[in-house]
Amino acid sequence: MKRVIAFIMMLLCMALLAACGTNAAAETEAPAEKSVAAASVPTAVPMETPAQPAEATETEQPASDVGVFDLERGVVLLNSGYEMPVLGIGCFQLSQEQAEYSVYWALRDGYRLIDTARIYGNEEGVGRGIQKAIDEGFVTREEIFVTTKMWTSDFDKGAEAIEASLDRLGLDYIDLMILHHSQPRNDVQAYQAMEQAVAEGKLRSIGLSNYYEPEDFDRLVDATTIRPAILQNETHPYHQSVEMKEHIAQVGTVLESWFPLGGRGNTQVLFSDETVSSIAAAHDKTPAQILLRWHLQAGNIAIPGSSNEEHIAENYDIFDFELTEEEMARMTALDKNERFADY
Ligand code: NAD
Repeated sequence: MKRVIAFIMMLLCMALLAACGTNAAAETEAPAEKSVAAASVPTAVPMETPAQPAEATETEQPASDVGVFDLERGVVLLNSGYEMPVLGIGCFQLSQEQAEYSVYWALRDGYRLIDTARIYGNEEGVGRGIQKAIDEGFVTREEIFVTTKMWTSDFDKGAEAIEASLDRLGLDYIDLMILHHSQPRNDVQAYQAMEQAVAEGKLRSIGLSNYYEPEDFDRLVDATTIRPAILQNETHPYHQSVEMKEHIAQVGTVLESWFPLGGRGNTQVLFSDETVSSIAAAHDKTPAQILLRWHLQAGNIAIPGSSNEEHIAENYDIFDFELTEEEMARMTALDKNERFADY
């Protein structure tokens, strides 16, 4: 009997030791598993709220998701670590009053991106439209993304120009400020003033507009520290900016299209294009909506301009359909490398 009990005890001890060994192994493996998981988390992840920076530093290479358009949420992650809405309202050639109402209607309809410039002479109107939408509870300041531009005659006094735009807009920070045009004489100096304003929390992201040659873009980038978050150039199906888009993507810069519909006076050229109009008919959408959807699927931020309440609503109603690969290819085939504007 004693022998049987001793045998059973021995078996129990062996089982216990085996169990301990398994646990020990599990404990040593656990951290390894954890580190694999941690390593797979991207350095800059999409944020819940649009205006929060991800943890990206200027010296890092662009995170793999920088520049990737999330059309479910209507945003793209910039190399500055901030998210930017991919569709906005443009305010070129709008009076103060038109800008105020257009911005207000746009924010009410769901837009979160506004594009203006000091040279448009309507920053105060834009600011009033934003304030009205905030007062009426459509949006909060943090939910919206405001872009303005520094005009070339201000390049020698960048810090003052930034303060003046902040005052006119009635904001305490601007989400994105861009240099309106390339101007080799002093654009580096103007860009450095914007870099300083980023350090001071007055600007969140900075970028460029109207740089059409890779060498010109590189000239500015090589002389400055913060990589441009955005390049805003004339872009539409007849001028698709493919080479520039690929070039600037190397430093995580995203292309933004001005004249996304061809611009005032030219829209009918694109609206009546056989490819655009036939795709519009197939989706029961307007040519303007097809053009805008094409921009987003091609990876271009679009900022159509309008002071017409119905057009503003129509231009935002493009998240409920998708162009097929074949339709995208037909649109790509329209490129003529032809601009409508000469500036
Ligand atoms: P756009 O291509 O957006 O076209 C605007 C024209 O399209 C207007 O005449 C408008 O009435 C019409 N339109 C808009 N929606 C329409 C619809 N659904 N149906 C029919 N017509 C419609 O041109 P834009 O406004 O000049 O450019 C877009 C924005 O880009 C500007 O508002 C401005 O914010 C910016 N921009 C920047 C620069 C630059 O140098 N960085 C230059 C021009 C424009």
